[in-house]
Amino acid sequence: MTTYPGPKPGAVNGFVGAVGNTPLIRLNKLSEKTGAEIYGKAEFMEPGGSVKDRAALWVVMDAEKKGLIKPGGTVVEGTAGNTGIGLAHVCRSKGYRCVIYMPNTQSQEKIDLLRMLGAEVYPVPAVPFDNPENYNHQARRHAESLDNAVWTNQFDNVANRQAHIESTGPEIWAQTNGGEFDGFIAATGTGGTLAGTTRYLKDKSQGRIQCWLADPPGSVLHQFIQNKKLERTGNGSMTEGIGQGRITENLKPEVEAGLIDNSLHVPDADSIRTVYEMLDEEGIYIGASSALNVWAAGQMGAKMGKGSRIVTIICDGAYRYQNRLFSRKWLESKGLDKAIPDHLQRYIVL
Ligand code: PMP
Repeated sequence: MTTYPGPKPGAVNGFVGAVGNTPLIRLNKLSEKTGAEIYGKAEFMEPGGSVKDRAALWVVMDAEKKGLIKPGGTVVEGTAGNTGIGLAHVCRSKGYRCVIYMPNTQSQEKIDLLRMLGAEVYPVPAVPFDNPENYNHQARRHAESLDNAVWTNQFDNVANRQAHIESTGPEIWAQTNGGEFDGFIAATGTGGTLAGTTRYLKDKSQGRIQCWLADPPGSVLHQFIQNKKLERTGNGSMTEGIGQGRITENLKPEVEAGLIDNSLHVPDADSIRTVYEMLDEEGIYIGASSALNVWAAGQMGAKMGKGSRIVTIICDGAYRYQNRLFSRKWLESKGLDKAIPDHLQRYIVL
């Protein structure tokens, strides 16, 4: 019997070969409504379901390249969600153990999913970053206590932003016929997506493409871009995975180089309404951070003028959040039920 040594032409090599190369979707109704051309990078089509598959793959490849982890080793990370899911997939496919520390405020579904993907999960008390028992510090100590183990440290490990310099940025460039667009906008959690993509697009377009931050309530980044002050705008958000209280190492180089041209603050009412509008008008089922990005892209298009072409990131699908986003009780608890217009109320089915 002959065994074929690699994937057939046109196929990809395993799970990690399937990361990236997501479609860029023209959002037709939103483009019609705004008079701009709005495009969303469909990261909900990643093999692990979110934009964080890219960062997960790059931090593991970086650890391999630096000799920090060898076959049979262990990857340890502190994460509340998508990065852990991406890492669990990457680790299974590459034969590493995956250990995840997360705040015990996270949903049971996430803990269950991580365990089903083969990760060892430690839900720990949710305490602030300056407390040594914070989940990130526990993850670091766990890695230090093992041989052949690495703490991937997504917030300050710049292999995260490198994923977007080497994959997201070039893909968007190619999908727009060599940069035929005017603006890019995205929210940040670790900052990897915004910073890495901005770096690539600014370099390739020689500064022409405008790169803006979209920021949820409770984050300090909007004030920082506007006034150089690390001050929160609003008090916390129903969006998950975005908003930040500091300038991470992933974000720092672009912020310091002044490459983030502007920022928009996005209230939760606009994000949640956009979840429903995207479903009703475009047939796309997106999470709240993606909805925030899409709404912000519409605003950016309106500000840049008729015919401007804007690209944003659709970070993940609504599947991981549907028990919240489509639950009347949850919407009421957040004061967001009235944000859903009458003609979209029929989608509130839980
Ligand atoms: N959206 C979701 C749903 C996320 O989980 C994350 C990552 N925490 C982001 C957006 C932001 O991505 P980044 O960490 O690259 O800033």
